[in-house]
Amino acid sequence: MNVHDSERISGLLENAGYVPAEEDDADVVVFNTCAVRENADNKLYGNLGMLAHVKETRPGMQIAVGGCLAQKDRDTIQRKAPWVDAVFGTHNIGSLPALLERARHNDEAQLEILESLDVFPSTLPTKRDSVYAGWVSISVGCNNTCTFCIVPSLRGKERDRRPGEILAEIQALVDDGAIEVTLLGQNVNSYGVEFGDRGAFAKLLRACGNIEGLERVRFTSPHPAAFTQDVIDAMAETPNVMPQLHMPLQSGSDKVLKDMRRSYRSKKFLGILDSVRERMPHAAISTDIIVGFPGRPRRTSPPRSTSWRSPALPPPLPSSIPSARALPPPTCRTSSPRPSSRSGSSG
Ligand code: SF4
Repeated sequence: MNVHDSERISGLLENAGYVPAEEDDADVVVFNTCAVRENADNKLYGNLGMLAHVKETRPGMQIAVGGCLAQKDRDTIQRKAPWVDAVFGTHNIGSLPALLERARHNDEAQLEILESLDVFPSTLPTKRDSVYAGWVSISVGCNNTCTFCIVPSLRGKERDRRPGEILAEIQALVDDGAIEVTLLGQNVNSYGVEFGDRGAFAKLLRACGNIEGLERVRFTSPHPAAFTQDVIDAMAETPNVMPQLHMPLQSGSDKVLKDMRRSYRSKKFLGILDSVRERMPHAAISTDIIVGFPGRPRRTSPPRSTSWRSPALPPPLPSSIPSARALPPPTCRTSSPRPSSRSGSSG
């Protein structure tokens, strides 16, 4: 979702006359931030601190901060980094060129954070990173309340695009040379809830099958609670919909799922996998699992053996493996050093 938002930001700026610049030669620097991981703000303020010195030596340079952290922190960004020229939220990406212009004209920092979406962001110009594959938003926001996730408070309630609009965007992409699309939503299989059609996602997949030249259709992320047989049937019966499913499990423990306020249990998840395997025996299935969730005992018993019977899931951890808390900090730059109530994962 953030990558696609960045494509929109690039498209908007190019539309307004800006051209891409080398990293050390930019007149405008835009940060599209994420608030899912706890160290996102540390990184942002570190980067802003470095740019403050660059800005001193380059008169007229502008810095803008948008995305989820901007939506969450609002004027804190301007307080902590008063040299930032524009702060914009997740609901008003389209305002960026005007905010930069106004900041330049008034010689004053601009802040614009809307509480809800006015215009579905897919109507904004987009500069796509790839010619052959494109993201297509079908919905934004989420109506769930998973306790670990900040998405609903920053992206708002689910808003669904009309199918005709989505299919027109896909057709335009294909006309421009794309052969693959990924349908995007925080919770793709609840698509249609806003206009009262529970079968809308399956219908959309089938409609994608009628687009000539479109070779591959993928989607992310589905939610196990909303996963229905009609979607599995549509996947199996629509040749260009890939037999691929990335469906976040989050935990194999029903107690932890309850604590996470995930409204399905392991039995439901496994039932979906069985149905998928029945219709698409070679489907590629992957998942997300959160370890070290608050309240989880340091040593949980391994999940029921049935919880791990699918070859798509990793094998159970041996009981000798220490809990996540006891492990050394991860070295991956994008990992959070410890679980946080602000962690999040879509779907
Ligand atoms: S994890 Fe997914 S389903 Fe849960 S609140 Fe966040 S976006 Fe919604």
